[in-house]
Amino acid sequence: MINTCDVLVIGGGPAGATAARFLAKQNYKVLLVQKSFTFEKPCGGGVVLKAFDEFALDKTKISHHINTIKFVAPSHFGADITLGTEPLAIVDRREFDDYLRALAQKEGAEVIEGTFKSYDGQLAHIQSNETELRIQAKYIIAADGVNSAVRRAVTGGVPKRVLTLYAKVEQPLSGTCEFWFGKNIAPGYYAWSFVHHKGAHIGLACRDGLNAQKYFKDFCIKTGLNPVPKARGYYIPIWKDDLYRKDNILFVGDAAGQVSPFTYEGIYYAMRSALYAVEAIVDGDLNKYKDLWQKNLKKRFQAMELLQTLLLRWDWMIERVVRLLNNPKVHQAALRFWSGKSTPKSAMQIIRKVISLITQKT
Ligand SMILES: Cc1cc2nc3c(=O)[nH]c(=O)nc-3n(C[C@H](O)[C@H](O)[C@H](O)COP(=O)(O)OP(=O)(O)OC[C@H]3O[C@@H](n4cnc5c(N)ncnc54)[C@H](O)[C@@H]3O)c2cc1C
Repeated sequence: MINTCDVLVIGGGPAGATAARFLAKQNYKVLLVQKSFTFEKPCGGGVVLKAFDEFALDKTKISHHINTIKFVAPSHFGADITLGTEPLAIVDRREFDDYLRALAQKEGAEVIEGTFKSYDGQLAHIQSNETELRIQAKYIIAADGVNSAVRRAVTGGVPKRVLTLYAKVEQPLSGTCEFWFGKNIAPGYYAWSFVHHKGAHIGLACRDGLNAQKYFKDFCIKTGLNPVPKARGYYIPIWKDDLYRKDNILFVGDAAGQVSPFTYEGIYYAMRSALYAVEAIVDGDLNKYKDLWQKNLKKRFQAMELLQTLLLRWDWMIERVVRLLNNPKVHQAALRFWSGKSTPKSAMQIIRKVISLITQKT
């Protein structure tokens, strides 16, 4: 039997659930297919608090409000960064994703447990329990994450990505979120620890993916995590700005590689990309999705990409920057940039800014 709907959304994480919610709100007949209702996305669970206001989300879903984060330089010098008006919210991903899907359901989306298997250009094949469903939809939203089966089915590939190692531990390093930098910690990236209600989530990504396990073990030993927890490998996309649409399929969130370089925040951007896709569908102009995304986010992602390249390449550079964050002016400028309040600069302006930053007195 063939089922029909206006929009088939594959993947019920932040991107898919948000798209389903706002399309259903506009009276579209939406089918949201989520592989597993008990899946918990490996994640730090850090979301900018403003997301709760922008998307009218229930703040009781926040397990911790983080007002100060800690940056640790290669020398182990630590800087506490007060987030001021931009605190970070910590969510439990299983509960948060469940909640987002419930919001979609409340607006009228049909939400089922099922797995996207293939697409023949007309029909999407979904395996739901013992039943194989064939779905004909006017539009498809691919929101099935970094290993996107939809992306593989229609383009033959997945987003460029980096391997991260991730574990849940019972002992938090501290009551906050910590970011550890340096070539002996996680070359080109960083290690992190985010406090959670049952301890902490910790992880790292590093350029030297082959030795990731060794870096992870060293990080745990350095921070006193004993015994070293068993880490799970998981990919994070590396943003390439390379895929928005293929025919009637829009790619959003991790499936489109839309994780911010440098900070590796993906939850908020997945939800924003969903909104742009919804607007494009509602306006009947699918190219509008790419236009909206690029107009609102591209400069910011480019700036983050450049900053990652400049700041995380050399230990002396990151050492200098972490120390400078104690300077109130630098601290405020960094916060304005991170929160999106200051306009991203051109590549040249960013390079000039970084040079003036590292040559000034601490
Ligand atoms: C270790 C780690 C830590 C991270 N920490 C943070 C953080 O602290 N803050 C932050 O903002 N970002 C973080 N991220 C990134 C963030 O998790 C993602 O960017 C975000 O979840 C993207 O949302 P999404 O909806 O696009 O994809 P996902 O959250 O991956 O959701 C995709 C959904 O699709 C489902 N699915 C997959 N395949 C199929 C299929 N074939 N059929 C049906 N359903 C399918 C999956 O079960 C999943 O629920 C982290 C990522 C990792 C790996």
